[in-house]
Amino acid sequence: MASKRMMIGNTAVGGGAPVTIQSMTNTDTRDAVRTTEQILSLENAGCEIVRFSVYDEDCAASIPYIKAHTHIPLVADIHFDHRLAIAAIENGIDKVRINPGNIGSEQKVRELVAAAKDRNIPIRIGVNGGSLEKDILRKYGVTPEGMLESALSHVAILEKCGFYDIVISMKASTVQKTVQANRLASKRTPYPLHLGVTEAGMGEAAMVKSSIGIGSLLLDGIGDTIRVSLTGDPVREVYAAKRILAAVGLRSEGVEVVSCPTCGRTRVDLASIVKKVEESLPETDKSLRIAVMGCAVNGPGEAREADIGIAFGSKNAVVFKKGELCYSDKLPEVVDRFISDVKSELQ
Ligand code: SF4
Repeated sequence: MASKRMMIGNTAVGGGAPVTIQSMTNTDTRDAVRTTEQILSLENAGCEIVRFSVYDEDCAASIPYIKAHTHIPLVADIHFDHRLAIAAIENGIDKVRINPGNIGSEQKVRELVAAAKDRNIPIRIGVNGGSLEKDILRKYGVTPEGMLESALSHVAILEKCGFYDIVISMKASTVQKTVQANRLASKRTPYPLHLGVTEAGMGEAAMVKSSIGIGSLLLDGIGDTIRVSLTGDPVREVYAAKRILAAVGLRSEGVEVVSCPTCGRTRVDLASIVKKVEESLPETDKSLRIAVMGCAVNGPGEAREADIGIAFGSKNAVVFKKGELCYSDKLPEVVDRFISDVKSELQ
C-alpha cells in the first residue's frame, strides 16, 4: 500500500517522495553548540533529517539555538513526558518521536495532539523489539506480530484523538524480525515507515545487518526514510545510508570505484593502485563509475561497462571510456595518466 505523504519541516516523507536519510546526534543536547556542530557535520555528509534526545527541559531549551544554526528538519526523541514533547514543539521542533501509549492519561495525549496539530508537527511512533509492553509480550513474545500490534495500539490512540500525521518505525536487533514486522506494517497501515535495524553494533557486522534489513525492504518498495544505526560517529551512518540507497538503485552512486578482487592472474599491486585512484578523487556532486581491473582477460569487460576503466597487463594497461578502447600505455606511467583522465571527467 502506498504510504501517506507528510512534511517534516520542508522535507516530504512518504507518498512516493524520495527515501530520506536520517541520523541521530550523540552529543548532550543540553550543549546546544556541540550538538549544532555535529548536526552541521551530518548535513555536510548528506543527512536530511536529524534526531536528538530531549530528556529534560534544558534539552528542550536548546532547540531554538540549534534550529537557528542548522538547515535540516529536527526531530525530538522523547520518552514518556508529554510536557517535554509540547515544549519541543513550542520551541520549533519539526517532528516528535514519542509513543502515546507510554504518556499516561488520554488527557495528556490530547494536549500533545493539540500542540502538534497547531503547528503541523508529525509524530513518529517508534517500537523497539526490546521494549514491548507487558501485555503484548505475554500474547506475542518478541515477534514481528507483537511489534506490529504494539505500533498499531499507539496509532489507535492518536487516531482516536483525530491525529493522522504519523510515521511508524519498528526496529528489532535481528534482521528477520525487523524485515517481517515492516512487511506486515506495509500491508496494514497507510503511514510512512522509518526503517532501521536497532543496536546493529559497529563495523562490518553492523553494516551487513543494516544493508540486508533496510535494503531488502527498500527493494520490495517498503520504507520512506532510513536510519542506519552504528555505534560511534553518526557521520558514518549517513555514508552507510547513502551506500544502501545507491546499492538498491534509489540514489545515484556519485563517484563509484569498482575493482576486481584480484586473483592468480593479477600482475600488479592492484590494491595500492585502487587506493591511489580513490585518494585522488576530488569532492564532487557528479556521478562517475570508474573500473580498476587486474587483468586483460576479464578486466576489459568490466572496464568497458564503466564510464572510465582501466585493465592491467604485466607491463602495460588499456584504458576505456564509455565502452570504447582509448589507449594502451606502459606501467607505471599509465596510472597517473588514468588518474588525470578521471579528474578531467569530473571537471
Ligand atoms: S579481473 Fe582478472 S585479475 Fe581481476 S579477478 Fe578477474 S580474472 Fe582475476
